[in-house]
Amino acid sequence: PQELTGPYAEEIDIKLKQVFKLQTFRCNQFEAISAAMAGRDVFVLMPTGGGKSLCYQLPAVCRGGKTKGVTVVVSPLLALMHDQVNGLRNNEVDAVLLTSATREGEAREIRERLYSKSTPTLLYVTPERLKMSSSLNTILRHLYRTKELARFVIDEAHCISTWGQDFREAYQELHTLRDDFPEVPIMALTATADHKTIDDILVRLQLNNPAVFTQSFNRANLFYSVVPKGSVDELVSFIKECHPNETGVIYRTGRDKCEVLADKLRGKNLQARHYHARMTPEEKEMVQAQWKDGECHILVATIAFGMGIDKKNVRFVIHYDLPKNMDGYYQETGRAGRDGLPADCILYYSYRDVQPLLTMIRDNKDGNTTKASIERQEHALNAVVRYCENNTVCRRTQILQHFGEKFDEKDCGEKCNNCVDKGLRIFQDVTQEAKKLVSLVKSFGHENVTMGHCRQILKGSNTAAVREKGHDQHPAFGAGRHLPNQVFDLLFDNCLRLDVLVEKSIQKGNWHHHYLKLGPKADELLQGRRKLQLDYRPNTSKP
Ligand code: ADP
Ligand code: ZN
Repeated sequence: PQELTGPYAEEIDIKLKQVFKLQTFRCNQFEAISAAMAGRDVFVLMPTGGGKSLCYQLPAVCRGGKTKGVTVVVSPLLALMHDQVNGLRNNEVDAVLLTSATREGEAREIRERLYSKSTPTLLYVTPERLKMSSSLNTILRHLYRTKELARFVIDEAHCISTWGQDFREAYQELHTLRDDFPEVPIMALTATADHKTIDDILVRLQLNNPAVFTQSFNRANLFYSVVPKGSVDELVSFIKECHPNETGVIYRTGRDKCEVLADKLRGKNLQARHYHARMTPEEKEMVQAQWKDGECHILVATIAFGMGIDKKNVRFVIHYDLPKNMDGYYQETGRAGRDGLPADCILYYSYRDVQPLLTMIRDNKDGNTTKASIERQEHALNAVVRYCENNTVCRRTQILQHFGEKFDEKDCGEKCNNCVDKGLRIFQDVTQEAKKLVSLVKSFGHENVTMGHCRQILKGSNTAAVREKGHDQHPAFGAGRHLPNQVFDLLFDNCLRLDVLVEKSIQKGNWHHHYLKLGPKADELLQGRRKLQLDYRPNTSKP
């Protein structure tokens, strides 16, 4: 058993068991709680799912130390706040929630309670509410005067930093908390921050000699790999060979894609269901329950799935489409192997997934995204592409570097495909084949041609579509016949990546059609001033 020491150890341990029905503390929880109860400012960096909420919920229900009064929790995520308040109420903790969506009657009731003797234990508020509502400010000052303000908790604290990805206007105002309520300790928590961001958070919130708790984000039991995106059959045989009857999640970017893939998997005798935001709450709940009970093994889901899910024995998390950013990717893969046993995290990569995502980012459907935000999203997507294409540096090292952590690849223990496959790489010059492809696209001039059609011509496929247009007579017909599919994919991917070719997207109705056009670097290749070298690992059955 854990040895808990310090002036508040006994009460902390009792509350853990009695109120939260938990047995032991996870990394840094007890230490952060003790520091908070001693009245110190506290900063906690913990991966998502690491157990940040206990760090402030537990002191809130204690009596010893600096805990008297209301704990005010500021968080930007409405859904998560709702979940937490419900969870607390289930444990008979008195928690209330005040957001811009709170109905006036209920808000009044909460305000009255805050003025009365029966103050709630925890008050959850959005930063916007804290900034805008003058009545809330009056209440806080009243609580402060009567020494009934226990602590300010700033969840998702990275939102205050302009270094971070999620900078929020209303968070900036939080720097006044220290000036307005100098005696009230502050606890700031986040799951994403490099050193620069951490320093920024500490300064902006004016934390005073804070107790800082950080931990490695490394998940030693997870195997990370990125493999070329192949056919669904390859996916099926991987699951059947490596994870028969085991539980997993397959992430896809579109709702339709989830339904189609789940259907295909069922056609191959795999127990799969889909999950996405367009389902009714009842449907979602049912599917989730079936998956949790092990009745259904595989969920094919959009990123709508996963918040608050705590299933231990997830043996694989597959990204069948390109994730939009590394934070999301890491969070989603983090749902694998919560029991500490080995689990696989596999990303099926094709450069062709990039363009549709870029289109989505730039389309700016909801119309209220700023230019800066679009640039941030593009930047974040680029980081994912770099990660996928870097097949030399240990995947762990790359991932953890993203979170500002230095990781020596010797410590990976061959638990990523770059470490395992060192030395298996193949270098192949495909300049000649690329020239054929580019001349083919050039010969179409202003006429639109799809990648699929070019592929058929180069492969020498004798299909109706090819014959109809007389393309079986084209000089490029069959020029890539000798290339295996994987190399063929890489040829297209690399031509796009190097701007030798570009994809032009044309919207017809709800659909985006993608056509191949010459890119700015096409002439360099055709004139022999640029070579196309592939650096890849041959596909194996196990990703
Ligand atoms: P975070 O906010 O860091 O993403 P949460 O606080 O939501 O994480 O906790 C994630 C999950 O871990 C929750 O289901 C929570 O009940 C569980 N958890 C937290 N601390 C412990 C603990 N000490 N022992 C067991 N489970 C815990
Ligand atoms: Zn590695």
